[in-house]
Amino acid sequence: MTPQAPRWIRNFVDGRFVDPDPAQIFDKSNPATGTAFAHVHQADRPVVDRAVTSARRALDGAWGRTSVQQRTALLRRAADRIEERFEEFVAAEVADTGKPVTQARELDVARAVTNFRAFADIVAAAGQESFITERPGGGTALNYAVHKPLGVVAVIVPWNLPLLLLTWKVAPALACGNAVVVKPSEDTPSTATLLAEVFVEVGLPAGVYNVVHGFGGDSAGEFLTSHPGIDGVTFTGSSATGSQVMKTVAPRVRPVSFELGGKNAAIVFDDVDLDEVLSGLSRSVFTNTGQVCLCTERIYVQRSIFDDIAAGLVERARDLRLGDPEDTQTTTGPLISQTHRDKVLTYFEMAEREGAKVLTGGGVPALGSGLEGGSWIEPTLWTGLTNADRVVREEIFGPVAALIPFDTEVEAITLANDTDYGLASAVWTNDLRRGHRVAQAMNVGMSWVNTWYLRDLRSPFGGMGLSGIGREGGESSRHFYTQPTNVCVSL
Ligand code: NAD
Repeated sequence: MTPQAPRWIRNFVDGRFVDPDPAQIFDKSNPATGTAFAHVHQADRPVVDRAVTSARRALDGAWGRTSVQQRTALLRRAADRIEERFEEFVAAEVADTGKPVTQARELDVARAVTNFRAFADIVAAAGQESFITERPGGGTALNYAVHKPLGVVAVIVPWNLPLLLLTWKVAPALACGNAVVVKPSEDTPSTATLLAEVFVEVGLPAGVYNVVHGFGGDSAGEFLTSHPGIDGVTFTGSSATGSQVMKTVAPRVRPVSFELGGKNAAIVFDDVDLDEVLSGLSRSVFTNTGQVCLCTERIYVQRSIFDDIAAGLVERARDLRLGDPEDTQTTTGPLISQTHRDKVLTYFEMAEREGAKVLTGGGVPALGSGLEGGSWIEPTLWTGLTNADRVVREEIFGPVAALIPFDTEVEAITLANDTDYGLASAVWTNDLRRGHRVAQAMNVGMSWVNTWYLRDLRSPFGGMGLSGIGREGGESSRHFYTQPTNVCVSL
């Protein structure tokens, strides 16, 4: 592992980094080693207040008068600058999360660049609806809508794909003319802070992008969502926190966009090509050590191929390479923290109490070579469970899945939809009609057929039930980040 010198990670308010107050510091450790490498300045109420006030000032000032072309040109410059500083972003993301460097390059940071370019394209190309209306008694009127920015947007994101999820919100918000105050997860403060440097370099006006660091309740997260100066909240995180945030903003009736947890199902029919499905399933269970909201935690397999799928997936799980995140051969990093590992291990114990047969994993690996202090966990697969078991109902957010057999298509649909969540699903079949039929029957925001986590940023993303409120992506993002004023002109 490359040793890291401790450094400061500061709040960014009104175009400047704010000097840390020693009383308000917390340490950030590398999850792969457990070694602290940074001191993070926690934002107290006055810092959050200054951030919101500066965002409002920016909106009332020159930023509020920019054209879509000016704003999208700025986003494209930001994308170029992230590309120029690509390896710095990769190193920061790897240090914060312990994720493999290859994944940080190919998924996290690459998608941040794409987010800026894609939303620049989407917002620049957005059309304008207008209607010619017949007036009672003769004559006509012209109706059209002016899309104004929502205003000061609070952006709160989790730790699993920190830069990807942050830029997925910040890019459309800025393209639509908003100013933002972002609160990254306390576990991943680095890349949101680096992004502030990029925005300074490309000339984003002061106050348009602010970063406040800290925790959730009674800390920067709640100081931000309870601030009377915010006009909306876009939040990605757990369903429980989403519910808290909703209560906080309810008295002032602010709009929310919530991308929350999942307990996603895969359905595997017996007409599939086994190798192809096993690769897809393995990716959908173990990517990012299972810490993607879209990851599969329930796998329903048609009975005739159940044993083959179980044996094949165990083999894939054992082929994963856990180890030094900076080694390009590493496929799987640690969990984000010891706290999160304790939670996942609780589910491992619960599964055994609930009668699970552990096909592989179920514990903590011994990796040695400087990784003893990391929050490592074994990729794990279970059989012998049913939908009645808590480990099949609750989101675990680790590299783990339960395999459950089914006999008929109707039974598979019923089992997959038997959940309080409704984020994503994947159907694996070579029967084209069945693929469409089953995918459409899934009560989820994203329903894949013979693939997983294949995204087009123009398409809607979000969840049903406990998995969220609203959609982002493409036009859906523009809807959330703007407010239309309808103008009606008598002609
Ligand atoms: P979390 O809910 O604990 O925290 C998310 C963010 O909210 C963090 O920045 C945290 O500091 C902040 N926060 C916590 N309490 C708060 C409060 N009371 N007020 C304001 N802010 C508060 O989630 P996490 O553990 O960081 O992330 C994992 C969760 O995120 C999982 O449930 C996962 O499914 C979900 N997730 C969903 C999506 C999606 O698109 N649907 C994507 C990624 C992750």
